[in-house]
Amino acid sequence: MAAGPVVVATWRFGVPACEAAWQVLASGGSALDAIERGANVTEEDPSVQSVGYGGLPNAEGVVELDAAIMDGPTHGAGAVGGLTGIRRPISVARAVMERTPHSMLVGGNARRFALAAGFEDADLLTEESRRRWREWVATHGMPDVAHFDGAGLDLGLDSERMDEPSHDTIGLCALDAGGRLAAGCTTSGLAWKLPGRVGDSPIVGSGLYADQDVGAAAATGNGDEIMKVCLSYRVVMLMESGLSPQHACEEAIRYLLRKRPEHQAHGAACIALSAAGEFGAAATREGFDAPGRQWLWAVGDASGVTLHEGPTVTLDEP
Ligand code: ASP
Repeated sequence: MAAGPVVVATWRFGVPACEAAWQVLASGGSALDAIERGANVTEEDPSVQSVGYGGLPNAEGVVELDAAIMDGPTHGAGAVGGLTGIRRPISVARAVMERTPHSMLVGGNARRFALAAGFEDADLLTEESRRRWREWVATHGMPDVAHFDGAGLDLGLDSERMDEPSHDTIGLCALDAGGRLAAGCTTSGLAWKLPGRVGDSPIVGSGLYADQDVGAAAATGNGDEIMKVCLSYRVVMLMESGLSPQHACEEAIRYLLRKRPEHQAHGAACIALSAAGEFGAAATREGFDAPGRQWLWAVGDASGVTLHEGPTVTLDEP
C-alpha cells in the first residue's frame, strides 16, 4: 500500500514549486508530471536569479541552463547541459528522455533539439540579470574566456564568492498516489561561470537520482564538489542500506566533507524522499549557514506546503 502523495523541493522558491506539483499529485497525476510542473514554475519566475529565465549568465553574459529529470518506474532519465535561449529546460530534458534514445544533450545541439521539438527561442536575460552581469564585468573586466587564457583570468570563483547567493537549484522529489517516484532539477548554475561549465544538476547520480524500489534524492550547492561524490546516488544507496532519508542526507553530506575537507566553505545540500513517503534533508554548515542564507527546503502533502530549515552538519558530529 503506497503512502500518500508527497513532494519535496529545495530552497524557499521550492514553496511555489511544491504548490504547483501538489496540484498535479492531488488530482491523481504522475510524479513525473508533478516534477515537471513544479520545476517549470521556478524556471519561468524571473525573480529567481539562479534558475531558467532571469538566471545569472556565464562570464560572457550568456545564460547556460542545466536540467534533468528521472522517472522511478522506468528508471529512465533525460538531461540537458549548457542549454541556451530556451525557457523550460526541464521540459527539454523530459523530451530527451521520451523522444530520443539518449540520456543527455548539450550545448548548441541541445538547443537545436529543443527548437525541433517545438520549444520557442527566448531571451533568458532580464533587465536585472543583465544589469548584474554588467556590474560584474565592470568590477572584474571582460575576461578573455574565448581562449581560456589563464593569465590574468579572474572569474572570481574563489571560496568567498562561492558563499554568495549567486547560484541555487530547484531540485524536486515526488511520490504520487500510485506509488511512483520521480526526481528533477534545473538551474542556471554558478553565476559568471566559464562558458561550457556544466554542474551536477544534469548528471544522473550527482544532481538527482531515483530508484523506484528505494527512494529519490536531489542536490543543490556547489556542483563542482557535489559531482565528485555522486551525492544523490549516495543518498539513495544509503537509504537502500537501511538509513532513513534524513540520516542518509546527513551521512552523504558528511562523506562530501570528509572527502573534500579543504572545500568546506562551499555549500552543498540534498533532499530525499523514500518509496514509503518519508523525507529528509541536510546541508553543510559552512556556505549555507551565513546570515540570510540558511538551508531551506519545502514539503507539499495533504496537509499543505510547509517551509523547513536545516539541519546542517559538520564533520565532527557523530
Ligand atoms: N548545483 C548547481 C551548480 O553547481 C548550483 C546550485 O545548486 O547552487 O550548477
